[in-house]
Amino acid sequence: MMNNMSNENSLIDPVKLDRLAETAVKVGLQLQPGQDLLITAPSAALPLVRRIAEHAYKAGAGLVVPFFTDEQLTLARYQFAPDGSFDKAANWLYEGMAKAFSANTARLAIVGDDPMLLSAQDPAKVSRANKANSIAYQPALEKIAGFDINWNIIAWPGTAWAKLVFPNETADNAVRKLADAIFAASRVDREDPIAAWADHNAKLHEKTAWLNQNRFSALHFKGPGTDLTVGLADGHEWHGGASTAKNGITCNPNIPTEEVFTTPHAHRVEGHVSSTKPLSYNGTLIDNISVRFEAGRIVEAKASRGEDVLKKVLETDEGAARLGEVALVPHSSPISKSGLLFFNTLFDENAACHIALGQCYAKCFLDGASLTPEQIAAQGGNKSLIHIDWMIGSNEVDIDGVGVNNEHVPIFRKGEWIS
Ligand code: ZN
Ligand code: ZN
Repeated sequence: MMNNMSNENSLIDPVKLDRLAETAVKVGLQLQPGQDLLITAPSAALPLVRRIAEHAYKAGAGLVVPFFTDEQLTLARYQFAPDGSFDKAANWLYEGMAKAFSANTARLAIVGDDPMLLSAQDPAKVSRANKANSIAYQPALEKIAGFDINWNIIAWPGTAWAKLVFPNETADNAVRKLADAIFAASRVDREDPIAAWADHNAKLHEKTAWLNQNRFSALHFKGPGTDLTVGLADGHEWHGGASTAKNGITCNPNIPTEEVFTTPHAHRVEGHVSSTKPLSYNGTLIDNISVRFEAGRIVEAKASRGEDVLKKVLETDEGAARLGEVALVPHSSPISKSGLLFFNTLFDENAACHIALGQCYAKCFLDGASLTPEQIAAQGGNKSLIHIDWMIGSNEVDIDGVGVNNEHVPIFRKGEWIS
């Protein structure tokens, strides 16, 4: 692993890497003086974690604490651990994270592990381990999903991930290319990324303001293999770009981000929909998904690849077969234009309109910060251990807003905003 680590590091532009670290601290997190920071990262991303710690302390961070995962170490479990291991999770760790978030610690997650890491492992063990982890993670996830604190996700160009995105390149070239793609999508290929983000946030806010004014009761998606009406939750609110956490800090949770999104009504989704890009879920590729909804619930699900995993996911709990998010992204988004499939939701969800199975975001309600979980459920907000985004938009998909009197207002035509 040490070789791998120094190898990636020598291939990556140090100036842009440093800008990514600074952008994560100043735009992604808006880390406040005295605030603590918890970082989770792949072991190979240590050079980026070090840059982040430096910028965090310069911004006045109290304490920066990293937690690392490692691909080899994860695989060792599947190779050597006793069967009982796969129902275990580090509850103590997530309880500690939840405690840290309650004490206003900010959270930074770095993604970059091999998306196919577990694809050759026993699916039953993978699904048991995922489930145990989801349950253990719940107390911490609630505070992230509830937007209690400022948090941010960014990416590191891990070698295995880079080889998956650029299969015809040497490992070194693949890492260079993925690094460049991450830097461009994260707007750190510009001289002044912080100004670029301010401009981008302003444009996304124009769209959310228009959607929030219109207060559509549903969205209607129409395209090849898709005729879907997604009811929107009562008192839903659209978000996009920077938004304000319950602790009062305005941050950009996802870097990159191109989406505006809100909460669907868990019981008012009807019709059928086909995915337009493959979904990479915990090491499995799920492709050509097509599902049918009745009264908000998926009653029929097919996929040309990974159907077993998809069906297991839908059985995770009552809310796993219902929607927790609907998001609009133009087909001309920079990530879509790159033409790359990243096999990673942080990027791929910004290439197309998407929906997410599972947990909704409390912040996507008017006055969401003050609503109890019961009130959110009563307004149509979904609850689940999972939140999985999958892409349903393309240049062939049209979207209308549906008003309370069933009047239709065009929003997207051929994958683009109407105005
Ligand atoms: Zn989304
Ligand atoms: Zn999502």
